[in-house]
Amino acid sequence: MAKKATRKAVKRKKALAKARTGEAAKVKPKPQRVKADAKAAHGELPQWTPAEVEEAFRRFQAAEPEPKTELTYVNPFTLLVAVVLSAQATDAGVNKATPALFAAADTPEKMAALGEERVRDMIKTIGLFRNKAKNVVALSHKLVAEHGGQVPRSREALEALPGVGRKTANVVLNSAFGEHTIAVDTHIFRVGNRTGLATGKTPFEVEEKLERVIPAHYKRHAHHWLILHGRYTCIARKPLCERCVIADLCKWPGKTVAA
Ligand code: SF4
Repeated sequence: MAKKATRKAVKRKKALAKARTGEAAKVKPKPQRVKADAKAAHGELPQWTPAEVEEAFRRFQAAEPEPKTELTYVNPFTLLVAVVLSAQATDAGVNKATPALFAAADTPEKMAALGEERVRDMIKTIGLFRNKAKNVVALSHKLVAEHGGQVPRSREALEALPGVGRKTANVVLNSAFGEHTIAVDTHIFRVGNRTGLATGKTPFEVEEKLERVIPAHYKRHAHHWLILHGRYTCIARKPLCERCVIADLCKWPGKTVAA
């Protein structure tokens, strides 16, 4: 048993070292990558074994033990607002606008008092700002009227707020309350399908599969590991397979794993 654990530890160390030096895998030319993505989108990649899934998350954990959201926030309410603002926008773009907004209003009461026009003015650098300002103020009123000014810790109550869908609710439940939810955004959707870890035609399908395959002891941080992996390594246009810590486990045929 001890021997087995040692072999696994050596394999993990080697995989992390190869990723660090950019020798984990080689990306194939564009036509083959496109074909590989099409194959992945059709769910034609081999299945991962439970041992492989365990190993992938063990490596994510070794590389980044305490992953966190990149959105700036100071309490559950400001996290909720930041996530609403981040729809179809980058976290960096949201983080540029929110310090002034949260300095003026870090509670639902203050945000409701600030009003739609001023909120709109403060977030106008973010895409879809008109609609987002409307939702932020409306959800603040609702939190005051129905939840005593607190962010509810229930999916149902969160999804009943203006501008809050399943993904936003999952992020808030995970990051503000430590629930083991997985919010499938564009990055996780791509990583799930491309790697073969959790394939699906909709974010909900991918979420359900991830829920099934990820071991319970990794669920608390799985969401952030997968987002960060998709954002910085398994990027859309040309993934950085050469720097990937799970290159030898990933089923994407658009790369060749180093011997
Ligand atoms: S998970 Fe890693 S090896 Fe697989 S496609 Fe993404 S970057 Fe490449």
